[in-house]
Amino acid sequence: MGAEATMSVAASELVRARTCVGDFELIVCTDGTYRLDGGAMFGVVPKTLWEKREPADDQNRILLGLNTVVVRTGQHTVVIETGIGNKQSAKMREIHQNQELLPKSLAAAGVDPAKVDVVINTHLHFDHCGWNTTLQPDGSVTPTFPNARYFAHRGEVEHGRLQLERDAVAYLAPNYEPLIESGQMTLLSTDGIRAHPQIVPGISVELFPGHTRQLMAVHVEASSHLGATEHACYISDLIPTAAHLDPTWVMGYDLDPLESIAQRKRFYQRAIPEKWLVLFTHDHFTAMAHISLNEKGKPVAAPVL
Ligand SMILES: [Zn+2]
Repeated sequence: MGAEATMSVAASELVRARTCVGDFELIVCTDGTYRLDGGAMFGVVPKTLWEKREPADDQNRILLGLNTVVVRTGQHTVVIETGIGNKQSAKMREIHQNQELLPKSLAAAGVDPAKVDVVINTHLHFDHCGWNTTLQPDGSVTPTFPNARYFAHRGEVEHGRLQLERDAVAYLAPNYEPLIESGQMTLLSTDGIRAHPQIVPGISVELFPGHTRQLMAVHVEASSHLGATEHACYISDLIPTAAHLDPTWVMGYDLDPLESIAQRKRFYQRAIPEKWLVLFTHDHFTAMAHISLNEKGKPVAAPVL
């Protein structure tokens, strides 16, 4: 597949959204779509409820996006998350039906990988850090962003190295070990993040555990020349799509679903009153939205187009 399939993707499909957060430019790029089991994505929620929002195919899979957010702050070019990448085995590509589009998406958005100076991985599952590195035709693996400093949580690396029965398949060493070995990846600690959450001015990380123990959200905060401060938040797999806003609609993949529910409530306590722009990691159609409460007190999305 690969080449022919990706050639036909229109440039407008490759850049999912653009907006400004204060004086920062924010672009949602994509590694394309992939398919995961709908039941796994909605945990204990009955299919009769979730399929009204996310139709399943004949193998019970739903279509998901792989959103990479690029933030240009004026000083830095920051990439949040890097999709699935091109190191998947043929069998895994067939299962997920992913398209390896991120390099084309970045090009369509006018983002030069060599000019990216910061890459942040919210966690190290295969669908969030795949294009950290690129598999070359000669079999070598090289950094996709050669001049960037990469950031991930040390606990994610330690968890991945354990190769536990539950989630070993989600942690693929070539996505991060070569960067740790070369010194290009900085590993953050929970205490370190609490003391110094800022990665670069206007971009900071915060732990929202549940999906994994060290899942990080990325905050983007900037003032415009008019003085108002705006706030966007890449909430990653705490709330993977706009169909997952109900606090109890957590994923079967989550290591601690009760913690995910508690952390979602904590997130809404600020995101709703402070009118954060919420960036969804796996929603191909609603890349960003403001959240409000409906008449029943449930969080709902007002998409930003
Ligand atoms: Zn994910």
